[in-house]
Amino acid sequence: MKTAGLLLAALLLTASPALSAPAKPEIVTRAQWGSKAEPIPDSRRQVPVWITIHHAGEAWSAGQDPADFIRRMQRYGQNRPRIEPPPRNTYWPDLPYHYLIAPDGRIFEGRPVEYEPESNTRYPLNGNIGVEMMGDFNKQRPSLAQLRSVVSLTAWLAHEHGIGLEHVRAHRDAAPTQTDCPGKDFYRYFADGAFKNWVRQALANAEPAIDPGPPLPDGPTAPIP
Ligand SMILES: [Zn+2]
Repeated sequence: MKTAGLLLAALLLTASPALSAPAKPEIVTRAQWGSKAEPIPDSRRQVPVWITIHHAGEAWSAGQDPADFIRRMQRYGQNRPRIEPPPRNTYWPDLPYHYLIAPDGRIFEGRPVEYEPESNTRYPLNGNIGVEMMGDFNKQRPSLAQLRSVVSLTAWLAHEHGIGLEHVRAHRDAAPTQTDCPGKDFYRYFADGAFKNWVRQALANAEPAIDPGPPLPDGPTAPIP
């Protein structure tokens, strides 16, 4: 009996590094940035099984306020039936993404993960957590702070929802031929495996060795301001 107890304790001690959760990154809550979400119908409820990474696809300029950017995006979604021609005139009661990452690395909470996201591309939306980075990574490079935040957020979400790294993907891999999101200077880290390696390190509670590398030969050189 005593031996069995000791053996169990030893097993638990050996297993404990893999069991400890990656730390939850600091997140600016919906209340803090002033969300005015409208109700999302129950028909849109989901259980997350994918983490899908995006960029805004809109170049970021110096002096922009991320909270203001998000509030405008939310209002835009609610106004689409009045301002967009078909097929983009669908009503978005809340932000299309679940988390949004500013150039300074701050993570903002978007649509609750219990509801599927929105998209202008066609792929099965149910089951996706959408993580968006502000900026256009065909025209500018993500900041180191943004890379650190997208890695720690992805690791935390993957652990929290029991999502394996094989279900972490770029938007363009979810909707091939329809989009090049999240832009070539972020997609490069999917193409060479670096992004998932950094997430793997964060999942193991190690400091991810994030190295953005030099600009791509045909890619943007300007860092996001
Ligand atoms: Zn996207």
